[in-house]
Amino acid sequence: MKMDISIVVPLYNEEESLRELHAWIKRVMQEHGFTYEIIFVNDGSTDGSWHVIEELAKDNAEVHGIKFRRNYGKSPALYEGFGRAEGDVVITMDADLQDSPDEIPELYRMITADGYDLVSGWKKKRYDPLSKTIPTKLFNATARKVSGIKNLHDFNCGLKAYRKDVVKNIEVYGEMHRYIPYLAKNAGFGRIGEKVVHHQARKFGKTKFGGWNRFFNGYLDLISLWFLSTFGVKPMHFFGLLGSLMFVLGFIAVIVVGFGKLYALHHGMPYRLVTESPYFYLALTSMIIGTQLFLAGFIGELIARNSMERNKYQIDKEI
Ligand code: UDP
Ligand code: MG
Repeated sequence: MKMDISIVVPLYNEEESLRELHAWIKRVMQEHGFTYEIIFVNDGSTDGSWHVIEELAKDNAEVHGIKFRRNYGKSPALYEGFGRAEGDVVITMDADLQDSPDEIPELYRMITADGYDLVSGWKKKRYDPLSKTIPTKLFNATARKVSGIKNLHDFNCGLKAYRKDVVKNIEVYGEMHRYIPYLAKNAGFGRIGEKVVHHQARKFGKTKFGGWNRFFNGYLDLISLWFLSTFGVKPMHFFGLLGSLMFVLGFIAVIVVGFGKLYALHHGMPYRLVTESPYFYLALTSMIIGTQLFLAGFIGELIARNSMERNKYQIDKEI
């Protein structure tokens, strides 16, 4: 049966919000006559969240739930939700009532009528503490630069809409939920749009992403993604180039040292030991490092060649 919308809601200890969220989504969906499902992914909550989901599912056929045995994180929760989603358009939203279900119809329209692959919410006016909003600005500027998706202001917004193909062809793991637009772009889904969305202060409970280490992890993830998408299948292009440069540098230093010595010998000048010349050490280190980099590239290449994913390409259509 054809279904218009799947709403995927990852949640960790949000028992107070779930009923209100469900009722609100239901109201909006019925007003617009959408066929839909809601997939609550309970990411190892230790409160009564799962119980609430079970109750909701009992009375509402459109409610589904996935329950993790422990807390894995938002990305794994989204990944499982994406696997289950059947709607033409997949919406993700946070469970804490900070995102508004009233945005869904317009997001749906942008995917189906305007032809976007992905539309990301932009919390233009945010109701979060400064400790959250300032680092986020910096984070988004870097993400825009690295990913080349210049039109997004808010990569990490929980409220997003996807064409179904997108969620079935990206792999959100680790803490990559912050970069889903970048993942989508790397998978060949380039029509990425943005919609200003309303944001509210958290009504119940507190944020699950308060720790300072999220910035470091966030940036490290961004570097991995950049590296994987740029050199993942051709590591030699990166390491080989660096290695060769180092090696050439070392070679030049060898020549300087060698010729200096020969010159001194030939002209009967008092000659220094080669180890007294700084060029000797330059030659030594850069040739060793050069060889190492070259080898790293070569080993990387061997690994890439054996990877299961090496010939996994995104095929849009087949006849
Ligand atoms: N969340 C989750 N697993 C986690 C942490 C968070 O499923 O390990 C969910 C959380 O319940 C919420 C969403 O991810 O539905 C966003 O989290 P939160 O509202 O705490 O983040 P913030 O809005 O403060 O960035
Ligand atoms: Mg929140």
